[in-house]
Amino acid sequence: MATISAWQNTHRALDRLDAHLLLADVLNVGRASILAHPERTLSEPELKRLTELANRREAGEPLAYLLGRQEFYGHSLMVTRDVLIPRPETETLVELALEVIPSGESVLELGTGSGAIAIALAEALTVTATDESDASLAIAQANARTHLKEITFRQGDWFAALAGDEPPFAAVVSNPPYIAEAHPALAELSYEPRAALASGPDGLDDIRRIVAGSGRHLKPGGWLMLEHGYDQAAGVAKLMASEGFQQIACHQDLAGIDRVSIGRWPDNGSGE
Ligand code: GLN
Repeated sequence: MATISAWQNTHRALDRLDAHLLLADVLNVGRASILAHPERTLSEPELKRLTELANRREAGEPLAYLLGRQEFYGHSLMVTRDVLIPRPETETLVELALEVIPSGESVLELGTGSGAIAIALAEALTVTATDESDASLAIAQANARTHLKEITFRQGDWFAALAGDEPPFAAVVSNPPYIAEAHPALAELSYEPRAALASGPDGLDDIRRIVAGSGRHLKPGGWLMLEHGYDQAAGVAKLMASEGFQQIACHQDLAGIDRVSIGRWPDNGSGE
């Protein structure tokens, strides 16, 4: 008879934690119960489902897509292949935004994906979040509802998502696509939407557009805060400086990698 331990033995290639999380999900119990009861028998449908998920995991599909959710900044978020899986390093952007932007202020988040950043910021800020993909906005909206966050969602290509009559924001934040389109890392991310990852020959195509468009939507003294790749801090700083941003600084993520650059729109209104 199939038991938890027998099933695990037939899937030794599977990471142990991944196996436990898949078991806990399919059997609808906590991980502790999986560890405590390896002799538990599995029904035919449970076995079938587990084997299917294990095969997909072994083929490289990210665990978050198999479980249909990912934890980000203390929130469990629904994710599908329509959205990028929220990364822990993006919490650096959230923490910085919550530190720098006075609470209660308005912020524009561009390219929200699963809504991870918007939902985390909505704790303290008034958030407008955009995405070009309708499928992604549907996920973000569902996540905002689950976590009881009031967020204004707009569909469209970066700033084109705005109606045009929005008052300026205290900050524009984004984790845009930033991987160079020929970078080998993209091959390992094949399950995730390419539009959320790749951005032209140097990975900076979308960042260039966001930096160029932000000034028109920022209050005097407002902040632009962008996540970017490990080797892009200098490039992003240059783009920000050429648009007139001041107090430009790069912050590292928990792994010590250059990850988020910020710049301040002049508060004398002369930065145009
Ligand atoms: N940080 C992601 C990765 O390298 C990329 C996300 C992005 O392009 N915004 O896996």
